[in-house]
Amino acid sequence: MTDPHLNLIDGAWLPGDHLTENRNPSDRSDLIGLYASATAEDVDRAARAAHAALTPWQARGPLVRAELLDRIARRIDAEAEAIGQMLAREEGKILPEAIAEVRRAAQIFRFYGGEALRIPGEAIASVRPGVDIEVTREPVGVIGLITPWNFPAAIPAWKVAPALAYGNAVLLKPAELVPGTAHHLARIIHEEGCPPGIFNLVMGPGSVVGRAMADHSLVTAISFTGSVATGRAIARGAAAGMKKLQLEMGGKNPMVVLDDADLDIAVAACLNGAFFSTGQRCTASSRLILQAGIHDAFVARLTEAMQALRVGPALDPASQIGPVVSSAQLQSNLAYIELAHAEGCEVIGGGQSGGPTDGFFQRPALFLNAQSTMRVAREEIFGPCAAVIRVRDFDEALSVANDSDYGLSAGICTGSLKHARAFRHGARAGMVMVNLPTAGVDFHVPFGGTKGSSHGSREQGRQAVEFYTTVKTAYSFGG
Ligand code: NAD
Repeated sequence: MTDPHLNLIDGAWLPGDHLTENRNPSDRSDLIGLYASATAEDVDRAARAAHAALTPWQARGPLVRAELLDRIARRIDAEAEAIGQMLAREEGKILPEAIAEVRRAAQIFRFYGGEALRIPGEAIASVRPGVDIEVTREPVGVIGLITPWNFPAAIPAWKVAPALAYGNAVLLKPAELVPGTAHHLARIIHEEGCPPGIFNLVMGPGSVVGRAMADHSLVTAISFTGSVATGRAIARGAAAGMKKLQLEMGGKNPMVVLDDADLDIAVAACLNGAFFSTGQRCTASSRLILQAGIHDAFVARLTEAMQALRVGPALDPASQIGPVVSSAQLQSNLAYIELAHAEGCEVIGGGQSGGPTDGFFQRPALFLNAQSTMRVAREEIFGPCAAVIRVRDFDEALSVANDSDYGLSAGICTGSLKHARAFRHGARAGMVMVNLPTAGVDFHVPFGGTKGSSHGSREQGRQAVEFYTTVKTAYSFGG
């Protein structure tokens, strides 16, 4: 363990008002470090610094930003092992997945380095002779970025990189459970020459730091990823301050398996989608909707594969599933397993699992005979648990898939072009997968959902320009 890890405000490392322990969910005896909790005054200082730094930053033009993002990407790649170790230690993702996530963060910075040089605009003929019209994009200003614990490198990257690429200044507030990865990224961004005030790291509780950001008058936009309840609370504050808002929230993602599916592809897609990353992905396949003819064979194969998964410490090379992130999350998952019993499901697997260390280990679980009306089939559990719903045919499968308050990702496994097409068009979700897991996306295309899963314009890809810029229409008359 090194010295306390401080907040980065206006280019200086500052202590906040108290320190918080960061502990390893694979091994509670492993104290990763002490992290400074910022105060509302720190947020105010960061917002003022960001505001003051904006104009000179914008005046330097896009090449400076493109080169900065490229240097950051290279540093992240060069330090991917060390950052991945930190990510695995504090979040519990197994090391190969953790390192892959860090490399994803580097790819995102590199992608937006390119986008900084491709900021779109257009010239349109005016209806008035002699008048020219230019439609251009300008930075939004100071943006508050609030991130969850489940992708500690990728999600901060997919908010910070476009924000900087398009000329904004940011305050990043990472989740309390995973300050270490964000702190490492912050150090890289700072050391690679991001000007003071343009990137600020303010760590600490959402109720203090996140709230102060959402309420601050100089913060003109908020991009949030996290739970629906928190998203709603932020939306209320942001509406009062008339802030631009982007919310990415939960999911209860359906994966349909039709009778004509390739069983190997379907089992692999569901095993990955439901249980990898300990099921702690907003795009996890938490509802498996199986046509009657394939149901039994599929359940037998998936059960076998699920029970063969090795649950263990994130840094153990033998582990395929790491721990649940926290004691509270584990207790919540176990309560849902009890609920599945109470609602009449047959539960396969589940339960707390011992390990070589004092961690929050849980065996993956399937809830058979689930109905779409059950809470276990409607509420986001955010753990390695999937509800299995039996359906007669494609039409019922699509209807059950859409019977959700969420609409993030939806998948189908089928050999039928007709049904794949009908599902792509009929699924009420922001992302649709055919013969692929509901989780696992590319970094250069839009990401987001419909209904209760998302609010505001899409993240990632070129679509990010919508949120991170504002449009100016200029009219000129040349005489
Ligand atoms: P959370 O809502 O508890 O916390 C998210 C962030 O909000 C944290 O940084 C937290 O400190 C902050 N926060 C909490 N209260 C706040 C307040 N009053 N004001 C401002 N900020 C506040 O979510 P979590 O438990 O960290 O993450 C899990 C959730 O995130 C799941 O619902 C998951 O589906 C969702 N998620 C969604 C996506 C997506 O892109 N749709 C991606 C990953 C995770």
